[in-house]
Amino acid sequence: MKTTLVTGGAGFIGSHLCDYLLSKNHEVICVDNFFTGQKKNIKHLLSNPNFELIRHDVNFPLYLEVDEIYNLACPASPVHYQRDPVQTVKTSVQGAINMLGLAKRLKIPVLQASTSEVYGDPEVHPQKESYVGHVNCIGPRSCYDEGKRCAETLFMDYHRQNKLDIKIVRIFNTYGPRLAMDDGRVVSNFILQALRSKPITIYGDGSQTRSFCYASDLVEGLYKMMQTPKNFTGPVNLGNPSEFTVKELAEKIIKLTNSKSKIIYKPLPEDDPKQRKPDITLAKDKLKWQPKIKLEDGLLKTIEYFKECL
Ligand code: NAD
Ligand code: UDP
Repeated sequence: MKTTLVTGGAGFIGSHLCDYLLSKNHEVICVDNFFTGQKKNIKHLLSNPNFELIRHDVNFPLYLEVDEIYNLACPASPVHYQRDPVQTVKTSVQGAINMLGLAKRLKIPVLQASTSEVYGDPEVHPQKESYVGHVNCIGPRSCYDEGKRCAETLFMDYHRQNKLDIKIVRIFNTYGPRLAMDDGRVVSNFILQALRSKPITIYGDGSQTRSFCYASDLVEGLYKMMQTPKNFTGPVNLGNPSEFTVKELAEKIIKLTNSKSKIIYKPLPEDDPKQRKPDITLAKDKLKWQPKIKLEDGLLKTIEYFKECL
């Protein structure tokens, strides 16, 4: 039985990953400081003898004996990563150093949850892994973008310098049940606004695009990446290439919830990327992975979840 460490395991994606790993017969150690994670995401796992929860901040060293690490600890919603930007940089960089150090001591594989934000406001569309990005290093999103870029640098340097078995995935907008009610990202905001008959807040004119991947698809991709041979480091894009404008998303959610909510427009946040869509050729080729869940189907499951929360 493999013992797998998941940092950020009480978060949205992390908790789905813990479920998936347990279903694959792993022993799972979930490390989280609950900055944005929620106990309710993992409550159903606490009685499972193969699951262990440790409250810990990855900015501090961690001494454990495990067989592999998925490093997901980091706030992911712009609202939350900008709440304490210095902490976001520290978690991205110092957290990565600590997990890389642990992996180096144990000589085990470590996977980094990187992000499409490393491409910034992309001038190449769709984004391929070879695109080096268009990132503002001094704006309000930089704590996250540059933190995650530096983490990729560290992962590659530990690989080159210490022959560490590293895996980098660049995750594109992912959604699904267990997004926190106060998460602030677009899918949960719109669904909650629609269910509460409140105005749907589109930032800007809604012509900016995103490509939305359902949580279960993403988690399968993370797992498949970990199974790749030692010399395959990535980075690999993981996301759903079906692209929608934010306005289309709002209209879909209004329709699926049968809501009377009206759309209102608010200012576009600084450096908000105008377009985003993953090129997943590499994931298809190396991981034999591609998303299966269509946006409407994933939205319906997510709407059901939020109805229960309310
Ligand atoms: P999330 O905020 O729900 O989860 C992040 C988890 O990390 C939370 O449980 C939080 O408490 C924990 N955490 C934060 N700082 C920590 C620290 N210092 N020590 C220990 N735990 C800490 O977000 P998510 O959407 O589940 O994202 C998970 C990972 O995937 C993040 O690394 C994020 O950057 C990456 N990612 C997510 C998306 C997406 O669309 N969901 C896109 C790109 C990348
Ligand atoms: N957005 C919006 N209304 C909201 C929340 C977000 O119009 O209530 C927009 C946001 O400006 C961005 C897109 O939706 O263009 C996706 O935002 P999110 O915060 O989900 O993630 P991002 O992809 O920007 O990291």
